[in-house]
Amino acid sequence: MNEIAPMEQFSEKPVVEACARAPVGLLAELTHRCPLQCPYCSNPLELDRVNSELTTEQWQDVMRQAADLGILQIHLSGGEPTVRKDLEDIVEVAAKVGLYTNLITAGVTLTRDRLKRLKELGLDHVQLSIQDVDDVNAEKISAYKNGLAKKREVGKWVREFDMPLTINAPIHRLNIENLPNIIEFAVEMGAGRIEVANIQYYAWALKNRAALMPTRAQVLKSAEIVEAAKERLKGVMVFDFVVPDYYAKTPKPCMGGWGRGVMNVTPQGRVLPCHASESVPGLVFDNVKDRPLADIWLNGQAFQKYRGTSWMKEPCRSCPRAEIDFGGCRCQAMAFTGDAANTDPACKLSPHHGAFVAAAEQESAEQTPPPFVYRRMAPAKAPAAE
Ligand code: SF4
Ligand code: SF4
Repeated sequence: MNEIAPMEQFSEKPVVEACARAPVGLLAELTHRCPLQCPYCSNPLELDRVNSELTTEQWQDVMRQAADLGILQIHLSGGEPTVRKDLEDIVEVAAKVGLYTNLITAGVTLTRDRLKRLKELGLDHVQLSIQDVDDVNAEKISAYKNGLAKKREVGKWVREFDMPLTINAPIHRLNIENLPNIIEFAVEMGAGRIEVANIQYYAWALKNRAALMPTRAQVLKSAEIVEAAKERLKGVMVFDFVVPDYYAKTPKPCMGGWGRGVMNVTPQGRVLPCHASESVPGLVFDNVKDRPLADIWLNGQAFQKYRGTSWMKEPCRSCPRAEIDFGGCRCQAMAFTGDAANTDPACKLSPHHGAFVAAAEQESAEQTPPPFVYRRMAPAKAPAAE
């Protein structure tokens, strides 16, 4: 799970067209391997294979280049980053060059000794994802047995080693009714932050949208639950509530604006403006093996394409919110309207908004949702015949 804990909150200051500033954070997808199979996984449908992943030295070089570029936070993610045996070597270099290191993990492959060692090497923060706090439901969502018990252990170790903990809870039709218990779980674990993240429908989640979409009434109720819990837990736990696009009136400033605050490096080394951007045709993704990170950030075609506001069409072009939400999400515009330069259909001013909302209402009203398409690595392709 590679949702970034909102340590990078984006201001609503106007963007400069030529991007004169460094990104705040870098999401390092160390691998696409993961023992879980969540149907909302944000990894692409075509997963990178282990033999194509960057080497230890290449990732260490990414850490050095990130620090030189002025990046402050590194999010070590996946897939499941702890399946990489060299995670310690990468964390060590990241910490030495002064990056704030956040491990985004499902926890099930972590051991107490390993976490202790990572802490000694400089790991700053752990973000633990959960599927549900009901064992049966958690297994159904992740297609993984006894994961919840393991996550409880990991949460305890994080606190034992006096590290800050964020609980990352993707919310959807199957677990939304358990939200109060999920919040209590985070409190019991001693988390300082919880991310209640309504699913973003790209990649695997888009494939499973009809199985995951909650009703509008459920979403409104969940917002009330979060508001009440925020009040009750002031000074105990911070809440980040990712609102669901399909029931919104204006879109989120996706990634804080394209190429404005965050960059993403895939297991193979491709550098993306956001983790879903490979779904947008016509973008050229440079690789850290071929081009320096700073040059990619400043001049890479994929970063330039939708940076700032000059690429916008109407109604965004003349909208007073153009430099606040940047027209929303390019990947969602592509997925739903067929043109990444269109207004995000989450916006009530988009001509596609009515159909967007209707899709959510219709799918969430189905009494029997379709079965999940679990996130799995496709079988290796046979070599081409001579
Ligand atoms: S399968 Fe689940 S745990 Fe694994 S990376 Fe995807 S969302 Fe995270
Ligand atoms: S028209 Fe574009 S800029 Fe204006 S609110 Fe909608 S998405 Fe944002």
